Amino acid sequence: MSNDQVRKQIDQLTDQLNDYAHHYYVLDQPKVTDAEYDQLLRELIDLEEKHPDMKREDSPSERVGGVALDHFSKVQHDVPMLSLSNAFDDSELRDFDRRVQQGLGHEATYSCELKIDGLAVTLKYDNGRFVQGATRGDGSTGEDITSNLKTIASIPLKLNETVTIDVRGEAFMPKSSFNRLNKAKEANDEALFANPRNAAAGSLRQLDPKIAAKRQLDIFIYSVGQLEGKELTSHHESLEYVSKLGFKINDQAKHCKNIEDVIEFCEGWLEKRADLPYEIDGIVIKVDRLEDQRTLGFTAKSPRWATAFKFPAEEVVTTLRDIELSIGRTGVVTPTAILDPVSVAGTTVQRASLHNEDLIREQDVKIGDKITIKKAGDIIPKVVNVLTDQRTGEEKDFHMPTECPECNSELVRIEGEVALRCVNPKCPAQIREGLIHFVSRNAMNIDGLGERVITQLFEHELVEDVADIYRLEKDELLKLERMGEKSVDNLLKAIEVTKTNSLEKLLFGLGIRYVGSKAAKTLAMNFETMDQLKEASIDQLEAVDEIGTKMAHAIATYFDKEEVHLLLEELDELGINMTYTGPKLQSAEEIDSIFAGKTIVLTGSMEELSRKEAKEKIELLGGKVTGSVTANTDIVVAGERAGSKLKKANELQIEVWDEAKLLTELGLIS
Ligand code: NAD
Repeated sequence: MSNDQVRKQIDQLTDQLNDYAHHYYVLDQPKVTDAEYDQLLRELIDLEEKHPDMKREDSPSERVGGVALDHFSKVQHDVPMLSLSNAFDDSELRDFDRRVQQGLGHEATYSCELKIDGLAVTLKYDNGRFVQGATRGDGSTGEDITSNLKTIASIPLKLNETVTIDVRGEAFMPKSSFNRLNKAKEANDEALFANPRNAAAGSLRQLDPKIAAKRQLDIFIYSVGQLEGKELTSHHESLEYVSKLGFKINDQAKHCKNIEDVIEFCEGWLEKRADLPYEIDGIVIKVDRLEDQRTLGFTAKSPRWATAFKFPAEEVVTTLRDIELSIGRTGVVTPTAILDPVSVAGTTVQRASLHNEDLIREQDVKIGDKITIKKAGDIIPKVVNVLTDQRTGEEKDFHMPTECPECNSELVRIEGEVALRCVNPKCPAQIREGLIHFVSRNAMNIDGLGERVITQLFEHELVEDVADIYRLEKDELLKLERMGEKSVDNLLKAIEVTKTNSLEKLLFGLGIRYVGSKAAKTLAMNFETMDQLKEASIDQLEAVDEIGTKMAHAIATYFDKEEVHLLLEELDELGINMTYTGPKLQSAEEIDSIFAGKTIVLTGSMEELSRKEAKEKIELLGGKVTGSVTANTDIVVAGERAGSKLKKANELQIEVWDEAKLLTELGLIS
């Protein structure tokens, strides 16, 4: 980037972020999500660090929060109310610890607390009586909201000791109050609050305290600002002290002896936070000894002795560089967004699904746009939002082609479907995708034969259909790039082994329309051999539980084709098993209920299913879902960022599934 371009970008980001911050802090109506804001701020800070001379005075990287509203009287904070630096992963937490140790010349212990997502307030007590409460404002000047704060029942008006003290805490709206409030607003056709944080801030910054009183707010006190006549030595001791005075403190705080303990604490809350009755957006980590805090001091914006671990964003912002088209095995053309690589929910992604042309139009996606993406389980991320106000004017519209990019035949839109399809059965892309599907895990499951090798074999014309896989010979494989003697032997062995697969693997691998792996198993169990299935009438097919009319017709149509008969004959001659060899059909409940009688633990965050839904589905299939991992646990399902439970499962050598495997076994994806 040229200097001019950098300056332009810094200006644009500064203006944009200041506008977002104004909406968030002053109007209590955020325009973007916190993740979007944080990411753009990081982008700005990166640019500012590389070009410090271009940093603007009004940069949001230099400022704390918003400004005090004029309709409240102003309060000067004796001790500034600052922001917190952020750590987004383990390595940034370790960096923080390193900086602390360097600053102190020795190790530190830490106090870890939940980062309640509300609004910071300071409360002043004179000889034990509540005299003033204020917001943080810009860090040095806040708004006097004493009357509103008095409506919060958990703020004591008189303390248990006649002490003169300033305490800081987070006023928040519990999830239940937030839901009630938004329901009432919806019924009255009023604008809804975006989240409990903004609802709490909006309620406390009302001129009429009756409104705040109705909103059922609460507070946790998390630090002492100033205290007369008493020396405290550590942060955890100060929390105990304020609790004794009559303040409400959060009972989840933990004194951690080192950064590894801190990391474990943070990871633990990734899983448990959904169960809390209030929102948290991270963990606050504070050096525990107050003398150490004093030694470390402050930067202009935040204390050096504390940081906030932010939970990994499940939504992140990146730039869409291009749109590529891929042709699936059924000919459906899927536009895929090619992205600037970005880390989302712990993994780096470079592609996101755009589904189809209608959606591209609906979302108004252009090439060059800044977009928000969201990770959906192990599956390719989705585009959730386009930041249209970040446009520079250089973005380009995308138009779907009218011809298949692989075989040039005309693309058609089948009635009732949104997708465009290449209907040429000889389209090489479809054949290649069909082959990749045939060897995939839930189909024939051929070890060592993934997308890369299949593409190689296909390009060298060594395989044209699935039967060719069983005709591969050692000398032709040896000629391929990156194929040594050993890998070829292993591959041939892996292919050979799959000849005895039970029928359902082959059935699923053939890619019959609408037949997923679960349906393939049901069909294999019920008809037992390929011949019997091939001969089955629509009525016989439909008589099987779970086989609907659409699938029955698709199966019959498939087996009507001459080329299918030829393919099956070839596979038979090549020695591929065409019989079901799994457990015999017993009762309806026992059909592929891999969950029956099993004890399962769900951990980490899942994208497609809530914990509750997953639990219900597992229980319906005879499984038991419990909360902790013990020697009696059979399976641990680990979502994104699973922590201590996953560790324990590995220690106890318990089978671990990812979300995709759970969805597959529940029959929700194939
Ligand atoms: P911060 O993340 O820097 O954290 C400091 C705040 O944490 C404190 O002021 C306090 O309110 C709170 N906190 C909660 N529990 C605490 C505890 N136990 N101990 C100490 N502090 C505790 O907060 P910030 O400076 O207000 O702002 C940054 C945040 O605001 C970011 O997360 C950002 O995403 C969000 N923001 C969002 C937008 C938007 O448009 N969506 C705009 C501006 C800022």
